[in-house]
Amino acid sequence: MSRRFAMTALTLIPLVGALGACRKNETRRTEATGDSPVRVLREGAPFISIWKFKEEIDRAGGEKYKLEGPFNIGDPVHEAITLRALKEAGLVEWNVDETKDVRVRDYIAGVFWNDDPECKLFDTPDTLDFSDGIDWYGDLLDAEEAVSKKKELGPGTPILGRSHYGDLQFLHGMASRNDEMPQQTLERALVWMKFSYGVAIGETTGDDRLTDVELLRALFPGSTQTVSELFCVKQGKLERRAIGVLMHLLQDSYAAGHVRRQDLGGNRRGRIQQFYAYSSQDPSKHAADDAWRGGRSEGERLANVKGALDAVSCCREVLQLWSKRRPWPQVKAVLDQGCFALAPNAVPSAAGRDYEKR
Ligand SMILES: [Zn+2]
Repeated sequence: MSRRFAMTALTLIPLVGALGACRKNETRRTEATGDSPVRVLREGAPFISIWKFKEEIDRAGGEKYKLEGPFNIGDPVHEAITLRALKEAGLVEWNVDETKDVRVRDYIAGVFWNDDPECKLFDTPDTLDFSDGIDWYGDLLDAEEAVSKKKELGPGTPILGRSHYGDLQFLHGMASRNDEMPQQTLERALVWMKFSYGVAIGETTGDDRLTDVELLRALFPGSTQTVSELFCVKQGKLERRAIGVLMHLLQDSYAAGHVRRQDLGGNRRGRIQQFYAYSSQDPSKHAADDAWRGGRSEGERLANVKGALDAVSCCREVLQLWSKRRPWPQVKAVLDQGCFALAPNAVPSAAGRDYEKR
């Protein structure tokens, strides 16, 4: 599909994506424009997934539209957590110019991947040059339609749908359905984290086919994709992208709309009590707890979001181990004892009391 309208010149940070708004807020079917397969959001449409789309119709100029975003529109919680963790881990300087630093771009592109696993939001992934997002949104609508027809989104179906509505929802720290045992969700997330960590330390290379990676064989049977193709990046940038992908999962697991954790007070969150499943959640409630609530500084804003500082700590710990190329068992031990520790009273997945559809 042609890119009919270029995005305006945009800066890298702040990017988009509230901790919970990274995925499926309210969506609705929209009109096609003429004979174009492009679906356009009308003014005032509820924002979807990682950013708000805003349509501008220029009647005088004929059929014309523009999708605004994502920069400077959504709540950049994912990006703020990532940047803070990178600084605390000593991987970038405290005074880094995040709008220009290539390393930051690479990490952020990785954090972004979970929301865009088919890499359709960027025209040129290396520079984070955003596309109009229409292909991505069309794919999301296709997935919604499939779900509405009770089709299961699993192996053999597009990964965007699988990660939003199907068996790969662990990419966002969530269960794939209600009544999934917490140990099962945890195990699936850990398998993915082990794989992405293996890529991040170079044990798994970009040339490896997904079917050659034992951890992935069951998820991608018959796939001909390589790891580089999966992450849409060449070997040189693959490691930062892979650790970014892992960080997204860690961060989402602290989002109140994704996982119920022990409430430690002061917006701090402890062990996992329940993974939520999106299918029975009210989309508008899903993200409500995870947006910025203001603050005079980045630290204050992070402290005002439930779990955000815990997500920073978790990411920092993993980044520190990664920077020393520690083997996966050491990372897993940290996760088992900290970020991904299950509470003794953990229960099977559900929508969550505060997020149920009414
Ligand atoms: Zn997410």
